[in-house]
Amino acid sequence: MSISAKPVRGTAEWAVATVDCCLGCPHGCRYCYARYDQVERRGLVKAEDWSQGRIMEGELERVHRLYSGQVMFPAHHDIVPENLAACRSVILNLLRAGNKVLVVSKPHLHCIADLCQEFRPYREKVLFRFTITARNAAVLSFWEPLAPAYAERLACLELACAEGYSTSVSVEPMLDTADVVAMVEELQPFVTHSIWLGKMNKIGERVSGEEERLQAEIERIEKGQDDAHIQEIYRRLRHNPLIRWKESIKMVVGLEMAVEPGLDI
Ligand code: SF4
Repeated sequence: MSISAKPVRGTAEWAVATVDCCLGCPHGCRYCYARYDQVERRGLVKAEDWSQGRIMEGELERVHRLYSGQVMFPAHHDIVPENLAACRSVILNLLRAGNKVLVVSKPHLHCIADLCQEFRPYREKVLFRFTITARNAAVLSFWEPLAPAYAERLACLELACAEGYSTSVSVEPMLDTADVVAMVEELQPFVTHSIWLGKMNKIGERVSGEEERLQAEIERIEKGQDDAHIQEIYRRLRHNPLIRWKESIKMVVGLEMAVEPGLDI
């Protein structure tokens, strides 16, 4: 990396641009950056309205240009049964403009079955990336209380793969580092593109609450992603060609940061 090159972080590692059509999300993830950004930091949504989610005015009619690289949808909400029609419409707008679209979701089977069917004419331009952060039901239901369970996310991955789409997984944040290697083994038969691994970032800033269980969970997460554990995961998975390391891990193991947005490598 040259001295002047600015390291690429966050969604820029995956896409040259992000597109959303909603404000708010019902999944209730405790580490949600979008909620922190739009409720706490920028005041775009009231705290009590966040979990309902609403379609942003004008987003469905927006005519998208052809971007210079992969476009990520969505980045600050999710695709859920309540906004499926809106999300489908925006993604189709992007595809019709010739874009390559990275569809990121903690996926609902009903939604993915619909999208797989609707996007068939554009199959080569779609990359599904499903966020699957742990297999342990107690851990998932604590951190992502209203998102689909592991079995449903796995079923979505199998379906998209069977339908001939490029498929990918994001394990960011890793909620159960002790199980990451075994989970990768279970998921990889249905992954054609990549499996991204990343730490939970800025926990103190984004996760708030005093309850005992939360404090215990934060302690468990921090311990599980300390340098020694990250080095061990790296040692065990470094030769797996599907694995990609997010910036939070690259920094620990000494890999070069991406210097160009949207490379997705
Ligand atoms: S699915 Fe994404 S946007 Fe929705 S609550 Fe979870 S982290 Fe936030």
